Amino acid sequence: MKIADTILDLIGNTPLVKLHKVTEGIGATVLVKLEYLNPGGSAKDRIATRIIDAAERDGLLLPGGTIIEPTSGNTGVGLALVAQQRGYKCIFVLPDKVGEDKRNVLTAYGAEIVVTPTSVAPDDPESYYSVSDRLVTEIPGAFKPNQYSNPNGPLSHYESTGPEIWRDTDGTVTHFVAGVGTGGTITGTGRYLREVSGDTVRIIGADPEGSVYSGGTGRPYLVEGVGEDFWPTAYDPAVPHEIIAVSDAESFAMTRRLALEEGILVGGSSGMAVVAALRAAKDLPADAVVVVLLPDGGRGYLAKIFNDGWMRSYGFSNAPAGHTVADLLQ
Ligand code: PMP
Repeated sequence: MKIADTILDLIGNTPLVKLHKVTEGIGATVLVKLEYLNPGGSAKDRIATRIIDAAERDGLLLPGGTIIEPTSGNTGVGLALVAQQRGYKCIFVLPDKVGEDKRNVLTAYGAEIVVTPTSVAPDDPESYYSVSDRLVTEIPGAFKPNQYSNPNGPLSHYESTGPEIWRDTDGTVTHFVAGVGTGGTITGTGRYLREVSGDTVRIIGADPEGSVYSGGTGRPYLVEGVGEDFWPTAYDPAVPHEIIAVSDAESFAMTRRLALEEGILVGGSSGMAVVAALRAAKDLPADAVVVVLLPDGGRGYLAKIFNDGWMRSYGFSNAPAGHTVADLLQ
C-alpha cells in the first residue's frame, strides 16, 4: 500500500519536467520543478511546515496557540493548512484590495481574516502591518511567523528543495533559476546547490523590472509574489551569481505560452522565471541542465493573466492564441 498518513506528508518531493516547445532553438536541457503540486498549491507549504515546527520546538507556539501573519497569498494557505492539522488558530490580516477568491481559500481551511484599508500609510494604526502587530500583542498565545525575516523559510528550501533537485538530476544540474520575493527560495535552494556541487552550480534570480533586487526602487509591477521595495533578511544577496530583470509583458506572455504549448498552468512569477531561464540558457552548451522553480499554479490568475480583457486593459498584447473554431472548420 502507498498511503500518506496525513496531508502534511505530501509536502515536497515535487516533480521535474522538461520543456520542449518554448525552448526551441536552445541546446541546453531546461527542466521545471512544479511546486503547484504541493497540497496547498505552492512552494510556501514547505516554509509553513518548517516555520511551525521550529516555533513549536522553541516554545514560541504552544498547544491551542494562534498564528497571526499579514499575508493574503500562498504563505497564508500553507500556514492555514499546517495550522488546521496541528490544531492552531490562524488569523490573517489582509488589505481590502485582496479579492474574494483569495479570502475564501483561507477561510475554507478554518482561518479567520481581518480586512484593513489599502489606502493608508504603513505606520497608520489601521494599516495591515499595524493591525497585525497589535493583534500579536493583544491575543494570548499569539505567534507571528514573519516570513520576511524568519530564517526557517530559507532553511526549509536548504533542507528540501535543494536536495530534491540534486537527487532528481543525479547531480547533473548546472544552473538554478528562481524568482525572488522574500528571497527564501533562492537563498536556501541556491546555498545548498552551491555547497553540494563544489560551487559549480550557477544561481540565477529572476526579478520584476523595477524591484530592488535588480537595482530598482520598488516601482509597481503587476506580477505577484516576487520583487520587493525593501531588503528582507530572508534573502542573502551573496547566494545568486546574477539577477535578471523581466518585464510584466514578457512574464505574462510566457505564462500563457506555458499553458498553451507545454500544458503547464502556472502563475505569473513562474512565467517570469522561465523568461529569465531561457535568456540564461540561450548561449549554454547542450550538456547544461537548467532547473527552474515554478512556485504556484495558474488557477489563482484566471481573471487576470488568462483573461484577454484584463490583459488588454493593461496594454499587454494577447499571448499567441491556440486555435479558434473557425480555423478548425476550414
Ligand atoms: N512566486 C509566488 C507566486 C510567490 O507567492 C512567492 C513568495 N512570495 C515567490 C514567487 C517568491 O518566493 P520567495 O518568497 O521564496 O522568494
